[in-house]
Amino acid sequence: MEITSAEFVISNSRADMCPKTNLPEYAFIGRSNVGKSSLINMLTQRSKLAMTSSTPGKTLLINHFLVNKEWYLVDLPGYGYAQRGKKMMDKIKKMIEDYVLTREQMTCLFVLVDSRLSPQNNDLKFIEWLGENGIPFAIIFTKADKQSTSKTNRNVELYLKTLQEQWEELPPYFISSSEKKTGRDEILNYIESVNRS
Ligand code: GDP
Repeated sequence: MEITSAEFVISNSRADMCPKTNLPEYAFIGRSNVGKSSLINMLTQRSKLAMTSSTPGKTLLINHFLVNKEWYLVDLPGYGYAQRGKKMMDKIKKMIEDYVLTREQMTCLFVLVDSRLSPQNNDLKFIEWLGENGIPFAIIFTKADKQSTSKTNRNVELYLKTLQEQWEELPPYFISSSEKKTGRDEILNYIESVNRS
């Protein structure tokens, strides 16, 4: 898919205030610092579309971007901000759950995990929760340029093995590097194929 336009539309703290349209939505989520903003900017080829984690505020909201005037890319707040305190974490958790469980337009949720790390408990718990609730999701292993391809492949394999202990069917997955633009075509083509199906 070629990206011809990508524009910021609105930030919300509540799912029921998100745009009232029927366009499909592809949402991105992950722990703080996983590389979500860099990935969104890489996919859309807009260097500052998504605010990086160094920009306070924006990353705590549900951000809608309209792409090619055909679909929304939704930047969800990162989970697991222990340093922000329990009250804020509870608020973010509720915002995410609300969006994920009630937003009918959400066609796929991309869960980002750092390709350098072994499976992290809070990511696994979140994925388990998605499975239990029948939420369509895919996994993106980020920052692949930060280590050798063989190390990335080993980590991805371990991750999939861990998931297989719990699920019969594995979700679609992608390996990405925002630095090297790895995975861009695969992720955009996947979105396009789901949009057409
Ligand atoms: P977010 O908090 O998930 O939105 O993460 P950011 O996109 O702000 O990225 C966190 C840090 O990781 C920044 O310093 C980025 O420059 C760096 N980063 C993100 N993606 C990549 C990547 O694919 N490769 C490399 N080498 N660094 C990355």
